Amino acid sequence: MQFEELGLDERILKAIEEHSFDSLTKAQEGVLPITLKGKDVMVQSKTGSGKTLCYLLTIFEKYIRCSGKERALVVAPTRELAVQIEGEARSFSKYIDSYSVGCFYGGVGYQKQNRELDSALVVGTPGRLLDYAKSGKLDFSTFDIVVLDEADRMFDMGFYPDVQEMFSKMRKPEERETMLFSATLSVKVQNLAWKFMNEPEEIHIEPEEITVKNITQELFHVSKDEKFPLLLSLLKKIDPSSAIIFTNTKERALEVAERLTMNGYKAKALIGDMEQKKRLKTLDELKAGAITLLVATDVAARGLQIDDLELVVNYDIPEDYENYVHRIGRTARAGKSGKAITLACEEYIYGLEAIEEYIQMKIPVLWADECSLEPVEDKSSGYKAKKRYNRLEKGFSGGRKVRERGTRRDRDDRRRRNENGEKRKKQYPARKKTHDNSNIKGKVSVERKTPVPEGVVARKVKLSEVPHEEKKGFCAFIRKLFSKEGR
Ligand code: ADP
Ligand code: MG
Repeated sequence: MQFEELGLDERILKAIEEHSFDSLTKAQEGVLPITLKGKDVMVQSKTGSGKTLCYLLTIFEKYIRCSGKERALVVAPTRELAVQIEGEARSFSKYIDSYSVGCFYGGVGYQKQNRELDSALVVGTPGRLLDYAKSGKLDFSTFDIVVLDEADRMFDMGFYPDVQEMFSKMRKPEERETMLFSATLSVKVQNLAWKFMNEPEEIHIEPEEITVKNITQELFHVSKDEKFPLLLSLLKKIDPSSAIIFTNTKERALEVAERLTMNGYKAKALIGDMEQKKRLKTLDELKAGAITLLVATDVAARGLQIDDLELVVNYDIPEDYENYVHRIGRTARAGKSGKAITLACEEYIYGLEAIEEYIQMKIPVLWADECSLEPVEDKSSGYKAKKRYNRLEKGFSGGRKVRERGTRRDRDDRRRRNENGEKRKKQYPARKKTHDNSNIKGKVSVERKTPVPEGVVARKVKLSEVPHEEKKGFCAFIRKLFSKEGR
């Protein structure tokens, strides 16, 4: 379906034309004809399926049809997302005269944002929007269209009470158009839809075949110690204009970024502990080409829109198989092609089987010594992590604790509340005692399921020193060891 078939105003079509999109995405095809008629929708569709335009185009069209009287609100879970939406909104509304967009999120001064509060389109995170409502500067009852983007994530992050509060301050569901977008429609999301929407049409867009189709995937078996040198060789050979390197921990992300810098690369770490402002800045630097390599954890990269990446490297195999697809999906967005390289070491190889089962294919294995990879001198070979607090440059929060707080940290108001809206005390689950070991003294021996065959002596070897043929067998052995039949 073409955008022209939707009957949109010329000014909107003109802006779309500039983006040279061929046709509507599946999600847009499913949603736009319904929302343009003014019906409520709740939409489940994968990341990257073009949901943003589903609601933005509806909002713009309605604005024009009502000669500028319609006001719209888009609520998003994180600042990054809010900023992205604002950017797209400005870009697609640029030919609509005097259309105004305001974006509101925590972590920046209130003064700066005050003047945009009466914009035709208000985009924001729940905490900050409610703050404005409480101080009487924002009236939720003035909105004619309300959009909840990434509803599932919003709830993951504990915004359920905030969202409820916002809806309670709005007009009745029949007096506005409400749209809800989510990657999954959980029971919680559906409950909310029942409560605050007007007979919404439920739209499930078939997950476009997992995006890995357009991505060239490669996997190298490598020992933990040899990962970094291999990364250097790979980077030298591919020489990507932009790449993300994913690690499983933030310590590793900081280390890899630092070592890459020591080797002359323009690299930076992106971790969940960083302040939002700094994360956004880092991202902008990547987009502008000021840095070419971003070393990120899953938490830090979640929800960020980073297009046109040439390469994704899984420095560590993700422990959660879905993250593999999220990570490599950063390249080859919206039908483009890209490359993803995974380094499988002894520490994280146990995650591989689940990933391959999930993507329903074996990731092709390459061997470093067969790929004409040049060894590169590692200028950081004696690298030792400096004390943590030294590594925490300005811009990282706290400076003492280096604990990954995950999405909770992403919240702009930093309040912790339970579902009923009460402030929550810190709670840690009681540790389960699995067995009584109080009477065990000295060395504990573990009973092996399979006895070590006689004559077998364990030795520590470097993978690079093992003859090639033997190595293949060895890696196959390791994979088997971690596979279902091996367990
Ligand atoms: P989602 O919100 O579903 O994760 P987005 O709305 O962020 O997806 O869109 C992902 C990318 O696809 C964006 O870069 C966007 O510009 C692009 N895009 C949107 N619609 C189209 C289209 N019809 N054709 C090609 N690319 C599109
Ligand atoms: Mg989106």
